[in-house]
Amino acid sequence: MALREIRVMGDGVLEKKCKEVTKMTLRTKILIEDMLDTMYEAQGVGLAAPQVGILKRIVVIDIGEGPIVLINPEILETAGEQTGDEGCLSVPGKAGTVTRPNYVKVKALNEDMEEVIYEGEELLARAFCHEIDHLDGHLYVELAEDGIHDVHYEEEE
Ligand code: ZN
Repeated sequence: MALREIRVMGDGVLEKKCKEVTKMTLRTKILIEDMLDTMYEAQGVGLAAPQVGILKRIVVIDIGEGPIVLINPEILETAGEQTGDEGCLSVPGKAGTVTRPNYVKVKALNEDMEEVIYEGEELLARAFCHEIDHLDGHLYVELAEDGIHDVHYEEEE
């Protein structure tokens, strides 16, 4: 297990557009494994490669239903609307209200560079949009309706 440093807002790497992955290499396989480890360790539901400083179009997501790896993801279809709190591992301790589609259909490649299609609703739809935005250099804070606020976690006893 290898953890990578999560870049935080203000780091220019988060504002850049990522490049398509053209072939699977050992280096990229290790990157994906490290991204999953880093996401689970940070207790996030998604992580995009630029968040660990790599400008490649790779996203990992797990909303509690198992890991999803998306390479070169593209949104094919969206429907409906949801408005709710959103956070980001690159904006620690903060959240903001963001409106996203309630249904999202995504096409991507998996770790074997085979085409896969995913459909997500609610949290998964939100995660698809949020993570794919990272690949184009966008953070949710640009969309937050009333800016971002501190999140207070209850102390564990
Ligand atoms: Zn994020």
